[in-house]
Parts: sequence; structure tokens; C-alpha cells
Amino acid sequence: MAMNPFENYLKQLEGAIEYVDAPEGAFEILRKPMRIIEVSIPVRMDDGSIKVFTGWRSQHNFAPGPTKGGIRYHPDVTKDEVMALSAWMSIKNAVVGIPYGGGKGGIKVNPKELSQGELERLSRGYIDAIYKYIGPDQDIPAPDVYTNSQIMSWMMDEYSKLVGSYQPGVITGKLKVVGGSQGRGTATARGGFFVLREALKVRGEDFKGLTAAVQGFGNAGSFAARFLSEVGVKVVAVSDSRGGIYTEHGLSYGAVLEHKNKTGSVINFNGTKNITNEELLELDVDILVPAAIENVITENNAENIKARYILELANGPVTPEADNILFKKGIFVIPDVLANAGGVTVSYFEWIQNRMGYYWSEREVHQKLDEIMTRAFHKVYETMKEKGIDSRKAVYVVAVERLMEAMKARGWI
Ligand code: GLU
Repeated sequence: MAMNPFENYLKQLEGAIEYVDAPEGAFEILRKPMRIIEVSIPVRMDDGSIKVFTGWRSQHNFAPGPTKGGIRYHPDVTKDEVMALSAWMSIKNAVVGIPYGGGKGGIKVNPKELSQGELERLSRGYIDAIYKYIGPDQDIPAPDVYTNSQIMSWMMDEYSKLVGSYQPGVITGKLKVVGGSQGRGTATARGGFFVLREALKVRGEDFKGLTAAVQGFGNAGSFAARFLSEVGVKVVAVSDSRGGIYTEHGLSYGAVLEHKNKTGSVINFNGTKNITNEELLELDVDILVPAAIENVITENNAENIKARYILELANGPVTPEADNILFKKGIFVIPDVLANAGGVTVSYFEWIQNRMGYYWSEREVHQKLDEIMTRAFHKVYETMKEKGIDSRKAVYVVAVERLMEAMKARGWI
């Protein structure tokens, strides 16, 4: 069973080979990140001791432009995971057609165990270690699992100090007062919502009266629950790392959020039943939204999935083995690299605005995001129909073709 995320990426990439007319060299290049940086970051802890954290930045492919992708803080981060996430960013950016290659960073740390001061020193230390390899025209980080706009703002500040000038375009997902974009906070979920809307449309359905379960109540999952309930979908279950809650009557997003803010978790919420994350995935709902971490749907539970639509807001939630089972069952899977591309798309808008020094309204951002996501969905859907392939293969075909064109134009292949 392939649970190494980079091996999963390689399998997904191989799946596209026979459908893309590309020289083997194109695939050879895409099989490896072009640059991986590993750093040790010493941090002075509040008690005076020194702790050394390991961090990575992987730059997968810079044919289409600077590399771009988030930074993850998680106790289980590995180099292979960061490499996979950077490769998925290359695919993602190419699927939506924004002018970036893929990059990703990670630090092996449990940020919940750090004080604010320690977190700030760690974040600045990471930038001190990698600043020569990032920049608005080189590699542009952003938030990912357990990082946020405050951390991005510290990082922008550290980078600007090191290079001696204000550089908001070095990183996206910042606080608005230092160049963050309107709509970035909700962009991942909103983009997912737009593509799901299009998927329902092509199947002659709409949101009203459908049911959904959302795994993960972070930046992507919590807003997905909100946007779905706003259009009349009954969100019957949500979860976080400590477990989930279920009620057939549907959850109120606001009430769950308040409960989570008060108690630190969604579990033990009045009028609901506690369930496990595994149970949530197997609920009899129309829409399943994995919005937490990798490898949650595997060959062990894929057969038990009852949802008709899967919107992958997490990166890599479904293993390649599980994919085959889901497609055989006729489930409409909206792959991560399309489903969650709204985040990086609004990051792209943020970077543009930073470079112009002129800022768009929230409505403008939503509208531009809708256009890009809708176009990307239909390009993928046409490719599925035209080649008779599943959605995972289709996103890889669309992306590899675009990456190949960029590599060709540069004379690499
Ligand atoms: N971390 C997000 C992702 O996986 C956003 C990346 C970005 O905004 O650059 O797509």
C-alpha cells in the first residue's frame, strides 16, 4: 500500500502518460523537484533553552514562472511529504492556468505546543535560513496546515528586513494591513464551492436539499460548511483532529464555530452525536468534503464510501488505490488540485495587487476567482469526456500539457 505521498504523486503522474503527447523527458523532469532545501532552525525557547527544528522548502518546477505554494507546520511533516505537496502545486497551478510552478515548505513542529513568541522566532528563523532561495520572482510561500496570516506577515517582515526593502510580494496570505488580499481567507473553500456547483450543473442537479459531511474544521473545512449551508445543503457532520459530530437535522455553522472557539474542538456539541473521523467518511450523504490531511480514503475504506460527490479540499486525501475503487463506484471525485485551487488563485491575485500597489474590492476578487475556477472545471470536464478518462487522470493531462508547453518554450525538452 503506497502511503508515501510522493509515491502517490508519481503514480498519479504515470496515470497521465498514455494520454499526453509529450516526450519522455517531460515526465522525467516532473518526477523530481528541481530544488529541495533542508534547514535546521535553532530557536530560543521561553525557558532559555535552545531547540533545533527541521524545515524544508521544495521547488518542484519553475518552467511556468516562480514557484508557489504554502508552508506547513505539523509534527508529522517529512521531506517526502513536502516534495509531494510541491509537485501537487505544480499540477494545481497548471490546472487553473496561473503563471507559477509548484513549491511547498514545511517545518516539523507541533505549533500548538509553542508560545506566540516561540512561534514568531521559529517563523523568522525559517525565513533567515531560506531567504536567498525565495522572492517575488523566485518562490512565493503562503499559508498551509497550521500556519496563518500572522505568520505570513512576520515572514514578509523578516524577508523585507533581510533584503532591505518592503517586499509584500514575497509571500501571500498576509494580514490585509500589510498587503493581504480581500477574500484570501475564504478562497480555498469558495473556489471548491464554485467547482462543485459546476459539477452538479453538468449532472443536472443543484445544491438544494442535498446533505454533506465535512472532515476538518480549519480554514478550508469550516468555510466549506458555511458556504454549503448557505445554499441549502444540510451539513450533517463535521470534525477536527479530535473527532466529529453528527446530527441528521443539520448543523449551524455559526454555533459549531462558537463551540470550537470556546472548547478547542467541535466534539461534545449539544444535540449531536460524537463520531470518529473514520465514521464521518462513511456516512450516507450526497457530498463528502475531506478538508484535513492526506491518505484518509484508502483501499481499506473506499468501498464503504456512500457519498456521490467528493470535493477534495485537503491535499492528497485519496490514495491512488482508493481512486480506482471510487471511480468504479461511479462517485464524482473533484480532485484536490482542482477542488482546492481557489486558495492559490487568490494568492496569485494578492501577488498581482502587491506588485501594482493597487487593491481590488472583495466582490472583484470573488468574481475573478469564479471565472478561473469555472473555466478550469470545464476544461477538465471536457478532457474527461473527450478522452474517456476519470477526473484524476484528466487534471493531470491538462496540467502536464501546460507544464510541457512551458518546458518546451524554454528549450528544456
Ligand atoms: N497551501 C495552499 C495550497 O495548498 C495555498 C498555496 C498558496 O496560496 O500559494 O494550495
